[in-house]
Amino acid sequence: QAKRTGRNSFSMFTADLNERAMKRLSLEGELRTALDHRNFVVHYQPQVDLVTGEVAGAEALVRWMRPDGTMVPPGDFIPVAEETGLVVPLDLWVMEEAVRRAVVWREEGVSAFKVSVNLSARHFATGNLVEKVEDILTRAGLPPSQLGVEVTETLLMQNMQAAVDVLTRLSGLGVRVLLDDFGTGYSSLAYLSRLPIDTLKIDRSFVLDISGGDSEGDVVARGILSLAANLGLTVVAEGVETMKQVDFLKAHGCPYAQGYLFSKPLPHMEFRKLFQRGSIFPSTKET
Ligand code: C2E
Ligand code: MG
Ligand code: MG
Ligand code: MG
Repeated sequence: QAKRTGRNSFSMFTADLNERAMKRLSLEGELRTALDHRNFVVHYQPQVDLVTGEVAGAEALVRWMRPDGTMVPPGDFIPVAEETGLVVPLDLWVMEEAVRRAVVWREEGVSAFKVSVNLSARHFATGNLVEKVEDILTRAGLPPSQLGVEVTETLLMQNMQAAVDVLTRLSGLGVRVLLDDFGTGYSSLAYLSRLPIDTLKIDRSFVLDISGGDSEGDVVARGILSLAANLGLTVVAEGVETMKQVDFLKAHGCPYAQGYLFSKPLPHMEFRKLFQRGSIFPSTKET
């Protein structure tokens, strides 16, 4: 009897495992096809200068367009893309798109425009990222200082030496380096000083928790801002949704912010209209 139960639960377990493995396998196949057919779009979310209210740049964020027209958010497929290595060509495609777009916008007169793309830590193992980036910039004709790469600290820690090497070379080209989701990993001052970082992005979870008092969000946000000031780094606060957060961030010297308060990530046509309007600071007194 016991044996039978054991066997049943074992086959149920393998059935479940099989189902998940099958799902993953078919997702991987779909992703491969999507990459071949370029079934992705890049959306742009403004990074706003908190003093002038002007759009200082944008973060490029990928979306997958399924054949049935549905738009899949990156959270649903980036993990599989990471596991399979498909994230490497995907990231490079996003970079190419974003760089080409930045050149078009530059020709339209928005010369200070900066665009940043997210990079998986996978690139640090492949070896030729720097050459690829250089090639993309040269072919498009974008000054390297108008491109930024966003990397997360957790991913960096996995392959620190390779990361330091690659990021130093990218930085040598003039590309800016942003540390994404900052505060959520195991940061240490020692490694911060070893990396050629330009910008810290305060993770959304802390911004969400800003109360104007002494919540964890307030303490961490203030801490990151003073750390950045001491290290000569700039800061972008992520996930800003209220004027209360803006007021707090400005009061503590945060230069840039990004979040739904200003705009969600937008298709390039809509994004273009947005920055043509000039200041996008919400005029409403929402708190
Ligand atoms: P991330 O790089 O930290 O990007 C910020 C995410 O926060 C975006 O989600 C953005 O839409 C969202 N966000 C921005 N402002 C707000 C806000 O005010 N409230 C809330 N609730 N959310 C806000 P998205 O586009 O779904 O991207 C999720 C993550 O997927 C990104 O986090 C990034 O880690 C990854 N990702 C996106 N595009 C790429 C890519 O091209 N390559 C790689 N490797 N990863 C990517
Ligand atoms: Mg990012
Ligand atoms: Mg982030
Ligand atoms: Mg994030």
